[in-house]
Amino acid sequence: FTVLAIESSADDTCCAIVDSTRKIYSNIVMKQNDIHEPYGGIYPMSAIGTHQQNMPCAVQRALDDSKLDLLRDIDGIAFTRGPGMPGCLSVGMNAAKTLAAALRKPLVGVHHMQAHALTPLLTAWPNQPTFPFLTQLVSGGHTLLLLATSVNSFRILATTRDESIGRSFDKVSKLLELNWTNLGPGDALEKFCAEDSGVDCPSIPAFPRPLLGKLAYSFAALHSHVKQFIEVQGGIANLTLSMKRALARGFQIAAVQHLEEKLLLGLNYCKTENIPVRSVVVSGGVASNTFLRERFQACLLDFDSNTSLSLTFPPPSLCTDNAVMIGWTSIYRFLAQDTDNYDIGLRPKWCIEDL
Ligand code: ATP
Ligand code: FE
Repeated sequence: FTVLAIESSADDTCCAIVDSTRKIYSNIVMKQNDIHEPYGGIYPMSAIGTHQQNMPCAVQRALDDSKLDLLRDIDGIAFTRGPGMPGCLSVGMNAAKTLAAALRKPLVGVHHMQAHALTPLLTAWPNQPTFPFLTQLVSGGHTLLLLATSVNSFRILATTRDESIGRSFDKVSKLLELNWTNLGPGDALEKFCAEDSGVDCPSIPAFPRPLLGKLAYSFAALHSHVKQFIEVQGGIANLTLSMKRALARGFQIAAVQHLEEKLLLGLNYCKTENIPVRSVVVSGGVASNTFLRERFQACLLDFDSNTSLSLTFPPPSLCTDNAVMIGWTSIYRFLAQDTDNYDIGLRPKWCIEDL
């Protein structure tokens, strides 16, 4: 079964073609960084306009790269139904519905976070995680610890009380006035931390450890810590390069430590409840962070030294938004002949427990 999938929930205009044997024929991601960098984050009106401009080109390029024929080779059309920014989602949904209706192909609207969570079932084959697994979704709009018991049943064990980890990375990157890389502000922060010039500055006060021992996240205090330090110094212009680097590294360590603590609480919870979790999945844009990946490997080895727990990350390019994950997730529904009507609507605020 071959699907053409469209994703436009945030600022990337994406189209991909994937089939039920896990073959990825094409994966087009058209970024909008140049448009949003001056604002320091996604500017919704520009994002909608740019999706409108780019969507036909993304679809055309996905078809060209795949060498497939839309009418003959594509069996179904999928799109991101939610959660996400309504105006942005509607561009992708309308493109998908029109294609499906005109070509009389079946249609499936996909949950964006379910797609982030199921990506390793596509990419880690044949060593993919087995249910039930714990998944930590770390992205621009969410920070969730989920217990996945099947492809369409997820229980939220922890969520954020304020902002997402991705947003926090974006804010710190902006506070430190870093230039975005082609992968955006979070990636810029990671690259800045990894550069070796500038020794750690001993005068940075220790970062807070919010909600210790609780199954809940909080990142606002971490980025506020950075903000306050800069204010006390009288502005970013008064910070030396080594102070900036120490702040960035301190933030990255504190954010990842916070994730680790919650993951361990989740694993202990499953142990107490006799839920036989053998796999951990980490996905979403922030899971492309190399420091996070290394720390998580070490953290799970500490927790379970006989390594019977598997840890899976999608490849970095499929951690950030893409339409491959949307196509893959839709395939479970296409194969079950559980498709949507052409008049289906968006669900911009869709809880993953309500699939
Ligand atoms: P959601 O999936 O919650 O709807 P989104 O789709 O906007 O949000 P993703 O594309 O999954 O989010 O992830 C984008 C986020 O990941 C941004 O906040 C970005 O800064 C962050 N990010 C990307 N690469 C890295 C990195 N290497 N280190 C840290 N953060 C990163
Ligand atoms: Fe996303």
